[in-house]
Amino acid sequence: MGIARLDPELTCEITLENLFERREGQRVLTCLQCGTCAATCPYGEQMDYPARRIISMMRAGLLDEVYASDSLLACVACYACKAKCPRKIDLTGVLLPLIKEQVLLRRRDLPAELQKALETTLRYGNPMGETSRKREAWIKDAGVPVRTFHSDPRPADVLWFVECYDSYYPRGQKIAQATARVFHALGIDFAILGNEEKCAGECGRLSWETGLSNTLMEYNMAILGKYQFNRIVTSGPHAYDAFKYRYPVIGFRYPLEHTLTLLAQHLDRLKPLLIKKLDYTVTYHDSCCLSRHNSFYEEPRALLNAIPGVRLVEMTHNRINTLCCGGGGGGMWLDTYYKAKGYERLSERRIKEALATGANVLAIACDYEFSRFEDALKVVGGDKQMVVRDITELLDESMER
Ligand code: SF4
Ligand code: SF4
Repeated sequence: MGIARLDPELTCEITLENLFERREGQRVLTCLQCGTCAATCPYGEQMDYPARRIISMMRAGLLDEVYASDSLLACVACYACKAKCPRKIDLTGVLLPLIKEQVLLRRRDLPAELQKALETTLRYGNPMGETSRKREAWIKDAGVPVRTFHSDPRPADVLWFVECYDSYYPRGQKIAQATARVFHALGIDFAILGNEEKCAGECGRLSWETGLSNTLMEYNMAILGKYQFNRIVTSGPHAYDAFKYRYPVIGFRYPLEHTLTLLAQHLDRLKPLLIKKLDYTVTYHDSCCLSRHNSFYEEPRALLNAIPGVRLVEMTHNRINTLCCGGGGGGMWLDTYYKAKGYERLSERRIKEALATGANVLAIACDYEFSRFEDALKVVGGDKQMVVRDITELLDESMER
């Protein structure tokens, strides 16, 4: 992880112009036209140009037809096509964002909801349009001290990058507060950027706007450079992706962890603290970024299995076969567009599968998912049977104090 595993391919920007000089571009040339990518895509049937057709149009010099289509608005950046491609072509991380960017440059008629989220993120540093002064407001109710680097710039072991939804969204703030309490109980020496932090920028890139992503990355890198710490830990799988795969282009070299991978490393010290029995049947939703993009399949399950009383049951689609919540690649801000098109909401498809397990808790590990799944539970009438809880909330609840 971090410096040791840094891939030299990640330290240079890949563009459509230099694509075929790079390893990823050369992989695109090996496409078999097998159609696995289209078959595995949750919205493959809705796309005029799934990944297979984009590559065939590229080979035929007909990309202008692809650019003129709104086909890729249905791409929720779920990494399923990348994970299943027999040629290991990085469709989600490289090829599709490059094509989306060209669509945006030509059309500039994105659905209003997505356009507003991108503009708001550029202006305020978060998609909710909240002032930066409120970004650390959640810490006053955390119940434990949470240090901000700007108020106390002493070095820390961990710089915890909280991200937007856990900083501002009321339900996300509860998760941030639970995470702070778990860190505290483990004696982790951490500090946050607080009001100095801005969106890490991954969804800006995966949802068409590379310029926005680059602006946010440069801002955050400058802030990170002000402070001393040994590693960055983030609770956002999309932020994790940004730091691992995008920030190296502009010099990011810090060791990196997701909150759950950090906690899993402390499992021996964590277990004796988990003393309250939770009588829950839990099913865990593998987030696309944490699971099939970064292969963190076992760490969340090890943490859940360490909680006394928890009975873990699996959904039909789990680990590499997980079903996307529909929030990536701009999907967070495209629900109205998808509804108008008559597409099934992916969060509702997934919640029906979660309910079918008989579980009464859906455990999550992504800052996008609580709002999507809590809403989907209400829509399908499952909110009396099941609640949505972040894994850190379950750990915190079991640490009876
Ligand atoms: S799965 Fe891979 S090899 Fe098969 S058509 Fe899609 S991009 Fe080409
Ligand atoms: S990343 Fe997911 S949604 Fe996008 S094209 Fe691939 S399979 Fe479809």
